[in-house]
Amino acid sequence: MTPALPQRPPFAIRTRLLTPHAHGGIRWEDDVLVRVDEGGVIGSISQASPDAVDAGDVVDLRPWVLMPGLIDLHAHLPQLPNAGVGAGLHLLAWLERYIFPLEREFDEATAERVAPAAFRAFARAGTTTLVAYGAIWQPSLDTCFRAAEAHGIRAVLGKVMMDRLSYDIEREPEEVLELSIRQSMELCETWHGADDGRLAYAFSPRFAVSCSAEMLAESARLAGETGAYWQTHLSEDVNELAEVARLFPDATDYTDVYDRAGGLRPGAILAHAIHLSDREIDRLAESGAAIAHCPASNLFLASGAMPLGRYLQAGLSVGLGSDVAAGPDVSLFGVMRAGAYTQNGLHSLGLAAHPAMPPAEWLRLATLGGARALGLEERIGSVEAGKEADLIVVDPATTLPLGDDGSPDRHDGPDEILSRLIYRIQPDTVRGAWVRGRLLAT
Ligand SMILES: [Zn+2]
Repeated sequence: MTPALPQRPPFAIRTRLLTPHAHGGIRWEDDVLVRVDEGGVIGSISQASPDAVDAGDVVDLRPWVLMPGLIDLHAHLPQLPNAGVGAGLHLLAWLERYIFPLEREFDEATAERVAPAAFRAFARAGTTTLVAYGAIWQPSLDTCFRAAEAHGIRAVLGKVMMDRLSYDIEREPEEVLELSIRQSMELCETWHGADDGRLAYAFSPRFAVSCSAEMLAESARLAGETGAYWQTHLSEDVNELAEVARLFPDATDYTDVYDRAGGLRPGAILAHAIHLSDREIDRLAESGAAIAHCPASNLFLASGAMPLGRYLQAGLSVGLGSDVAAGPDVSLFGVMRAGAYTQNGLHSLGLAAHPAMPPAEWLRLATLGGARALGLEERIGSVEAGKEADLIVVDPATTLPLGDDGSPDRHDGPDEILSRLIYRIQPDTVRGAWVRGRLLAT
């Protein structure tokens, strides 16, 4: 029987629990009582003693498993309708053919249709925090924020900024620069920190190919002044690298373009960052900027394979991103799988010292890794008393190869459950998602 999920805090649930620990490894509990207080904060996690369970207000979710909500560090809201389309094209051709036309049409009416459906799709896949780009139009970004406000998902959004190689073909570059800065600032003033920080703003210069040095520097300066995030793309595709070198001949390398703009600091989220030199890796680690690792996207567009082990060893802050629509699916469990296959591929070709990380480490990237990238590791990213109740509940039986009855000798310890979530996730595996204890529409 399907239990009725709690809709709003306060509530108490009896459940199995699987969460990464702040200091490594995972915590697994077969039967605990999790209480969420009125403010949507996890009040306590205790053994499910008969007294506590008999209190009357407890919803029993077993054998489902409670986990922290997943944190997607990189996606594009206007692109969702094109997810899964365009494989075989390289980045710059894919943008021109499939993406710029779609973003150009992302007006208020389109955003009103796409954004609520997108947030439901992310929540259905277990994502409770989403960092995403909109299009360049200010009113459509307002619409996206209003949709996130109503839906309940935790969202960091930003208006795309481009003053060259843009789909805003009616305006002169100087006019675009001034307008884009002003509109981004207005959106930031309206939305950054809204609902006690559930909504936040990210200044979002698309990437160095689309932005003048002035736009990069101005956006970074405003992010610094307002405490908002700053997001862009870095070192995704070799043709892009060549174009950046041509446009910024004085820069030492791609990373240096953003360094010179003042963008590299905690709160900066750089998507992809696949083709980095040792100098760039060290500089990024030193700066505190975070990387949104998007392996499904990188395979889809044949962009490259990130040497993840090397980055983690260097102390880089890394989380995961779906990068929909270059990534074909919103599920971060699917992204973990793509990442693991990528690392196994590198290892089998002799290009990486170690095979893929164990499942628990992938979960860590998708939860605490993302929280650290956002500076929110004290508030979200794991299921712990005192943290906000950004939670999901999954039904492990949906991932069994032969269903519940056909797998009598199945292993269902935490390692097996997590491994199947990553390698055999199904559309109905995630049964519920909450932000601050508020159930999200899926
Ligand atoms: Zn992207």
